Amino acid sequence: MSAAQLELLTARDTCAPDPAPDLAEADRIIVSVSGGKDSQVALDETVRQADDAGVRDRIVVLHIDLGRTPRGHTVEWPGTVELARRQAAHYGLPFEVRRSLKWPSLVHRIRARGRFPNFLNRFCTAEMKRGVSGRFITEQVAALRVTDRPARVVLVMGMRAAESRARARKTAVEVDRRASSGRRTVTLWYPVLRWSTAEVWQRIHDSGVPYHWAYDQGMSRLSCSLCVLGSIPDLTCAARLRPELAREYADLEIEMGQPFRRELPMAEIIRRAGAA
Ligand code: SF4
Repeated sequence: MSAAQLELLTARDTCAPDPAPDLAEADRIIVSVSGGKDSQVALDETVRQADDAGVRDRIVVLHIDLGRTPRGHTVEWPGTVELARRQAAHYGLPFEVRRSLKWPSLVHRIRARGRFPNFLNRFCTAEMKRGVSGRFITEQVAALRVTDRPARVVLVMGMRAAESRARARKTAVEVDRRASSGRRTVTLWYPVLRWSTAEVWQRIHDSGVPYHWAYDQGMSRLSCSLCVLGSIPDLTCAARLRPELAREYADLEIEMGQPFRRELPMAEIIRRAGAA
């Protein structure tokens, strides 16, 4: 483990299942919220631990908006930005929304690229999310005016090990070397990495913070309404709830000559949604 990483690790409990950064040492704590359940609970957990350290005032909540499609539909679920704002307000935290400077929406980016993202080429997250959060970190560091050492930034995300094998291999705290520089050390923190889905929902219900309406309509995971990595039940449910967006994706498939997913074209998802 590097010296920079050690700098932000707490020594509070070596028996704890996952390490956590020493939030008292952080100059800024950025919590990235998608409007989904995992980042909602990551925010709640961050606030609890920041309160223990007396540094709630260093938290800022960031939502990265993936924009509106050429036909004017939100790429994310309707109401997501407003929900994320309400969640931040619940804790009295500042809330910021950022978007790609280059692309009006993820769908515009997909169209320009001529193909949908996939598991091996997630340009959606790389360009539309990581790039935008990197720019936000730069803004925050400039505002901090720390000159005698690199500014210490903790970027909190609601990633969970249960979601994929790649995530299961992660540690809860890691230095983001690509985002770090001589001016800043960016530490990534996944406070709910080992949490189960049941624990996530328990915390949401205990907190009393509003959660996204799409869960009650049958979705198990959220972000883009139609995620290229989504499960078939979620995609079918999403196409049922957002038929116009699904139609736009299906038309984009035809225009680009590329399927939404190789084994699962949008036209097939729409057919299943109709059958359901
Ligand atoms: S939700 Fe899915 S499609 Fe949307 S940015 Fe994330 S990985 Fe890409």
